[in-house]
Amino acid sequence: MAEPGSIPILLPVFVVTELLCACNTVQLWSLKKAGVAGTRSWLLANIAMLGYLPALGLRTVLPLVFSVVVSNGLGLLAASLFYIGCARFLGRPTHVRPLALMVVVGVAGLLGFTLLLDSIRVRVVIASGGICIVFAATAWLLFRHRLPTHRAAVYWLGSACSLLTFLLHLGRLVYYGSGYGSLDDLFATTPVNVFSMSMTAALVPGLSMLAVAMVQEQLLSDATWRAEHDGMTGLNTRQCFEARSMQQMQQAWEQAFPLCLLLMDMDHFKQINDRHGHQAGDQVLLAFSALLQEGLRPGDVAGRMGGEEFALLLPHTTLEQAQALADALRLRAAAIPASSLGGSIPYSVSMGLAAWQPGISFPELYRHADLALYAAKQAGRNTIVLHR
Ligand code: GH3
Ligand code: MG
Ligand code: MG
Repeated sequence: MAEPGSIPILLPVFVVTELLCACNTVQLWSLKKAGVAGTRSWLLANIAMLGYLPALGLRTVLPLVFSVVVSNGLGLLAASLFYIGCARFLGRPTHVRPLALMVVVGVAGLLGFTLLLDSIRVRVVIASGGICIVFAATAWLLFRHRLPTHRAAVYWLGSACSLLTFLLHLGRLVYYGSGYGSLDDLFATTPVNVFSMSMTAALVPGLSMLAVAMVQEQLLSDATWRAEHDGMTGLNTRQCFEARSMQQMQQAWEQAFPLCLLLMDMDHFKQINDRHGHQAGDQVLLAFSALLQEGLRPGDVAGRMGGEEFALLLPHTTLEQAQALADALRLRAAAIPASSLGGSIPYSVSMGLAAWQPGISFPELYRHADLALYAAKQAGRNTIVLHR
């Protein structure tokens, strides 16, 4: 058993860990509202960890069965919930049943090897063995399945911390399980104990801080996507289209490749709304933007400029090539009616096409394409006019 006075020396480590855990719990609690997958499981894992250390620390005060079973049971539960949070976040299988079974069997084993056959060695093997399995799986999950839109560093760190947790518990399992380490006092300030406790104090809050970082990455990428894309069609917003077009024009200038801008406007769209209703009008907009996206080549930029007006920037494309692409799109739109609850709705699109010349600014290129679009409307609609 612990010698009197041995716990207080490690007490500051405990207190720091608890405080950091409490801060992370509050962070995850407030982030829960955002509804990012996995947040709830990570929050529960933190709450379980908040109970783990006090239960372990009260070893000399409370009955052994309480501190051993409750603390190690909470440790296994927290590890499992952390894994489930990662799996939910990454959209991977959560393996809830095997993990729940492991926690139940682990707790039963801890009880059995406390009450029936008092073996601290087996209890260490059970507790650390379970944590080893879960964190080996977590390290692999974060390493293998990171979300491409997020910063890789968060996943690398998450995977590294999980791997370290695995190694720490593997070390504990081998050191204590083999009988090499003394189990008389797990809290004595031996170098191994101090190292083990300090690593736990760093890794436990570290892992939940990384969970918070993953949630924030997700919220940031969602917000960026929403700011750059039209909510209905998923196409670039006008501002984003302009910014990307200017980047492409800069490259066209530097690398001297041809580039064209196509502006498109649905014909008599007001009539479609009036005749079929606004929702049906939305279905027509969606049908056309799907056609537009289907034909995109790498580097092409498509945008919804507002209302029923769309734009397509075509880098590495001559006027003749752009005309062929645009005409194919126009014919497909005219040939495939949009479907809505009220039946199918035929529609057509007028187009204005302009080729970029070195020295022309984006607003000038846009004005040229707009003039051509106006001419297409004047020419009777469902046609394409080239600015010459
Ligand atoms: P034109 O052939 O000359 O382009 O005629 P038009 O009726 O298409 O053009 P007009 O500019 O007169 O009308 C455009 C209509 O598009 C008016 C507006 O209510 C409708 N509209 C704009 N945004 C949306 C939208 O998001 N959904 C729906 N359903 N209609 C929209
Ligand atoms: Mg219009
Ligand atoms: Mg129109």
